[in-house]
Amino acid sequence: MTDVLVVADHRRGDLRDVSLELLSAGRELADATGGDLHAAVVSGNVESFTEELNRDGVDAIHTVDYGEEFNHDVYTQAVVALAEELDPEVVVVPNSVNGLDYAPAVATRLDRPYVSDATDLDYADGTLEVTREMYGSKVETTVDVAEGPFAVSIRGGEWPPAEGTGDAEISAFDVDIDEDAVRSNVKGFEEVGGGDVDIGDADFLVSIGRGIEEEENLELVEKLAEVTGATLSSSRPIVDNGWLPKNRQVGQSGKQVTPDVYLAIGISGAVQHVAGMKGADTIIAVNTDPNAPIFDIADYGVVGDLFDVVPALIEEFGGDAPSV
Ligand SMILES: Cc1cc2nc3c(=O)[nH]c(=O)nc-3n(C[C@H](O)[C@H](O)[C@H](O)COP(=O)(O)OP(=O)(O)OC[C@H]3O[C@@H](n4cnc5c(N)ncnc54)[C@H](O)[C@@H]3O)c2cc1C
Repeated sequence: MTDVLVVADHRRGDLRDVSLELLSAGRELADATGGDLHAAVVSGNVESFTEELNRDGVDAIHTVDYGEEFNHDVYTQAVVALAEELDPEVVVVPNSVNGLDYAPAVATRLDRPYVSDATDLDYADGTLEVTREMYGSKVETTVDVAEGPFAVSIRGGEWPPAEGTGDAEISAFDVDIDEDAVRSNVKGFEEVGGGDVDIGDADFLVSIGRGIEEEENLELVEKLAEVTGATLSSSRPIVDNGWLPKNRQVGQSGKQVTPDVYLAIGISGAVQHVAGMKGADTIIAVNTDPNAPIFDIADYGVVGDLFDVVPALIEEFGGDAPSV
């Protein structure tokens, strides 16, 4: 038992970014265990995902062609069957809504210890060391799991996406899904407010916090996002106030984001917010308070009033700032 099995995530026909991050985490683990890296993709048009999953360092890709969308019982049965067949040392799934749904069931059926929300992994001498955050991201802890084989779910945005083109062996894995044990089915989709914007995919985020004061003033940052080609996101109070939909919230109870640029405007930098955006390549903060914690992690900072700075930026990018 030295191999590593990672299970890709997809939604409505698109492979999710975390799937490529899983491959990087899985390759690191397989290097440590001395085994092969297997990737699995379950449901949907599985063939269409194999090209993207065939990245450098992937040894084998297994497709399970059953159903269109995520289904707890199908995933559980498929991943358990794959793990029983391949006998990997570690099963790695994304710490996504889907991953969190089936990973505990898989671990239970395989009788493996399971650790969720890993931000780093280290394997040596049969022990899996898992780094994860606790107490609202205030402390980082290391969990040593000594009795393998293991199951773990990894947090999105913590590993770089796997690159290059690999030469994985691609094969269909034939699972005899027990239909009587499939207890739920997806009947359709309804987009929640905010449409199909996924801030987790954005390269440039203009993010607004309570410094904006009033809902009407959002027009200002919407204009900045428009003229700079950015996507608008926010801290939690903006969502709690109902000014932006939940899918725009960055943070511990919102989305993990990893843009090239994160422009934090009127955001203090509370730990629960930082937990969601600290993976940004470049962080720029605008805040009136020079002691705001956001400046501790910002690469560039403007100590200033957003109602002066944002209109100046809009004009710099050739737009007309709305009067708020
Ligand atoms: C369990 C739990 C989960 C949470 N999850 C999340 C989460 O996912 N995401 C999240 O964001 N929060 C989350 N929070 C809330 C978090 O603790 C903070 O309350 C929140 O992030 C603060 O948002 P803010 O920075 O916009 O507001 P504030 O902390 O009020 O900061 C506003 C900032 O704007 C600045 N400012 C004011 N006026 C101006 C101006 N005119 N120009 C420029 N700057 C100005 C102020 O100096 C201040 O720094 C969570 C809390 C808990 C308990």
